[in-house]
Amino acid sequence: MTVKTPVYLDHNATTPIDPRVLEVLISVQRDHFGNPASSGHSLGWAAAQLVEQAREQVALLIGSEPREVIFTSGATESNNLALLGTAETRSSRSTHLITTNIEHESVSGPAAELERQGWQVTRVPANNDGLVETAAFAAAPMEGAALVSVIAAQNEIGTLQPLAEIGTLCKGMGVLLHCDAAQAAGKIPLDVEAMGIDLMSISSHKLYGPKGVGALYLRRRDPRVKIHPRQFGGSQERGLRPGTLNVPGIAAFGEACRLARLEMVMEARRLLVLRERFLAGLREAIPGMQVNGCLRRRLAGNLNVSFDGVRAHALLGKLTTLALSSSSACSSADSQPSLILMNLGLSEALASASLRIGLGRFTTEDEVDFAVAKIAQVVDQVR
Ligand SMILES: *Cc1c(COP(=O)(O)O)cnc(C)c1O
Repeated sequence: MTVKTPVYLDHNATTPIDPRVLEVLISVQRDHFGNPASSGHSLGWAAAQLVEQAREQVALLIGSEPREVIFTSGATESNNLALLGTAETRSSRSTHLITTNIEHESVSGPAAELERQGWQVTRVPANNDGLVETAAFAAAPMEGAALVSVIAAQNEIGTLQPLAEIGTLCKGMGVLLHCDAAQAAGKIPLDVEAMGIDLMSISSHKLYGPKGVGALYLRRRDPRVKIHPRQFGGSQERGLRPGTLNVPGIAAFGEACRLARLEMVMEARRLLVLRERFLAGLREAIPGMQVNGCLRRRLAGNLNVSFDGVRAHALLGKLTTLALSSSSACSSADSQPSLILMNLGLSEALASASLRIGLGRFTTEDEVDFAVAKIAQVVDQVR
């Protein structure tokens, strides 16, 4: 069995660009350099048309209208724009934000900033399986809240939140619902209408597109969502996100969305088989291992496991032929235990002993077998 190393198992941190998407990125970068705001010549029109085509592909992926999609630099910017932008338009009526205790930093960060500005922030806790139950939301003081923000698929443990049920609850209370769908978009079917979502953040590089581009969905009808921009000085994206558009990145992001929409169901099926093989292999080889987060309601490519008596940091140092993380990519440089796992009720020891395994579009069976053997060998050594 020969595999190319390092074997990439960190698809929740980022995904490699799909070669078909790379073709679009390169050809647009090379052949269509016009500024879509140049309305006086054909190079500008061509660029504008590429952007509108991409907008349509993003919209098709999430069941929205194209004009409800705003291009940004990624999900971090989209999340900030969603939370801080709505906060500003709503603060005269409400200064209450409801979110969860398993959010990505790009949501928990702006939430903390609002708190610093005097907002009340309610963090609905996930259960020990990493799921935020609708009942827990129903128990939160929803009445009169400005916004609810929920992560669609958790970035460390892959758990899928009951968006449609939370959406129904929010609709009933007249509260806006924002979803951070950076991990979910292109991996599971999303429909902003059926799920009652009012704002949604997406990232291109999590769905085999280029880095530095993303989108924010903003509902235009029932209700029309109004946000205040975070930057000023241009009319691009209806003035909500001024600045010359990243045309190659946006066109490639559109292609990545198109491919994801067509292939997501088959891809998820294939990934589930690989994940089951991975888990069965680990269970057979390594005693004293636990899976973190619900396995059933979860992204097909994600696995998160802890090993008794092992620090993930020590494991990663020895697993040089595998590219994977102990926790979220952002915090894995230090050896702090994962706050998300601690919030699920794991002890500090187990939260420091977790590996996040992210399988993706190009992961092979041979790579899975290779990785299982390596992990088993290194856990044994370290113990
Ligand atoms: C990666 C990620 C983000 C940030 O996306 P960027 O495009 O890298 O800014 C936000 N939320 C979640 C859940 C993510 O996984």
